[in-house]
Amino acid sequence: MATEISTPLKGHCTCKTITYEVLAPFLCTNCCHCTWCQRETGTAFVLNAIIETSNFRITSETKPVLIDTPSASGDGQMIARCPNCYVVLYSDYGGDGTWTTFVRVGTLDYESKKTVKPDIHIFTSTKMDWIDLTSEKERGVPIMEESYRWSQVWRKDAIARLDLLKLKIDEAKKAEEGAGMGKEESQI
Ligand SMILES: [Zn+2]
Ligand SMILES: [Zn+2]
Repeated sequence: MATEISTPLKGHCTCKTITYEVLAPFLCTNCCHCTWCQRETGTAFVLNAIIETSNFRITSETKPVLIDTPSASGDGQMIARCPNCYVVLYSDYGGDGTWTTFVRVGTLDYESKKTVKPDIHIFTSTKMDWIDLTSEKERGVPIMEESYRWSQVWRKDAIARLDLLKLKIDEAKKAEEGAGMGKEESQI
């Protein structure tokens, strides 16, 4: 499932007020067919590519605005929009935005986004009937009715990076005793 990706990947909103870079290959790319993502994107599914926030950088002077938005998991998400054209660039789920960023694949430059394919399809119980995932199944991509645990699906190198991230989260938790900002493995 691994894809050859040369980083940094670059992306921007429609008016180019916001530009960003992704400094490492994505950990995992979720194709989510839940009704929430359908509504929030105005289409049949969303492509969210997950990256450590430390490997994601806004390169424009202007920063996105963060809008608190509900999500299917119930944990909510902060959706980052351009303050000028309001296109969504990325979202942070479950309040752990300090650690992982879910990039909207469609905002990557064409050359970058061509390299990104779903690693998993989730919430397919509400997928549109006309979307045929047969070729995705043949490609070996897991198809989940609902959510999944990251450790079940992610590539080995991505899990190693996730473990490293968990260590950092634990360290930060200790450093900020009582702040309660760490997060267990997520189910999005
Ligand atoms: Zn814009
Ligand atoms: Zn969804």
